[in-house]
Amino acid sequence: MQQHLTDPVELRGDCERCFGLCCVALPFTASADFAIDKPAGKPCRNLQDDHRCGIHARLRQSGFNGCTVYDCFGAGQKVSQVTFGGQDWRTGSREQAGRMFDVFPAVRQLHELLWYLTEALTLPAARPVHAELRELLETTEAITRGTPEELAALDVAAHRQKVNVLLLKTSELARAGVRGRKKDRRGADLMGARLKGADLRGANLRGAYLIAADLTGADLRGADLIGADLRDTDLTDADLTDAFFLTQPQLNAARGSAGTRLPGSVSRPVHWTAGL
Ligand code: SF4
Repeated sequence: MQQHLTDPVELRGDCERCFGLCCVALPFTASADFAIDKPAGKPCRNLQDDHRCGIHARLRQSGFNGCTVYDCFGAGQKVSQVTFGGQDWRTGSREQAGRMFDVFPAVRQLHELLWYLTEALTLPAARPVHAELRELLETTEAITRGTPEELAALDVAAHRQKVNVLLLKTSELARAGVRGRKKDRRGADLMGARLKGADLRGANLRGAYLIAADLTGADLRGADLIGADLRDTDLTDADLTDAFFLTQPQLNAARGSAGTRLPGSVSRPVHWTAGL
C-alpha cells in the first residue's frame, strides 16, 4: 500500500482552517454539477457566516454534485492561515479579499503538484529520480509559502511543466516494473468506451478521456492515471491496486463499489456506497 511521505493532512482540504475559499473564489455554471451560476469572487448563497456549507449533508440531493467531487489539496488552509496569516476575507479590506481569491487557484495547482511529487516519492521503482523529486518537492513547497504578491506573479504553467517532465520519467520507471505489454492510451478519447474486464495493467492513461466509460472489473494495477477524466466512469469491481497519480477529485467523479480495489493514496468516496 502506498504511503505519502509528507503529512497527508496538509495535502487534503481542511475546511475547519479555511475561510470557505473554494465557495467564494471559484466560479461555477448551472449544470449537472451545480444548481446555480456563480461568478468568481462572489460567496455561494449556501455559504454561512461561519464558513460552513448550509447544505453540506444534502449537496447531491440539492444539485451540487460538483462540490462533493472537489478537493483543494490543502490550498484553502494554506492561503487562509499561511499566505494571509489567518486574516478572514470577511473582516479585511475588499482589496485584500480580492488578492486572496486571486491567489487561491494558483496555490491549489501548486498543492496538486505537491501531491503528485509526494506520491512519486513513495514509488520504489522511481528511486533513480528520487533526489530530483525531493528537490522539486522542496522548491514547490517553498513557492507556496511566498507572499501574496509573489504568488500572484508566479508563472504556474511553467512550474507545472517542470514538474511534469519529472513525473513522466517517474511514470516510465514505475510502469516498466509491470509485467506484460502495456497499453499506451495517453490522451485517448475513450468516452463511453466498453472496457469491461479490460487488461490495463501498467497502462499509460495520462489525460485519457474516460467519461462514462465502462471499466467494471477492469485490471488497472500499476496504471498511470494522471489527469484522466473519470467523470461518471464505472469502476465497479475494478482493480486499481498500485495505480498511481490518481487523485481524490478524479475518484470522487467516478462511480464505483465496495468491490473496487483502490491504491492507498485515496479513500473510497462515501457516495459510492451510500446510494447517493
Ligand atoms: S453549495 Fe456549499 S460546498 Fe458548494 S460552493 Fe456552496 S457553500 Fe460551498
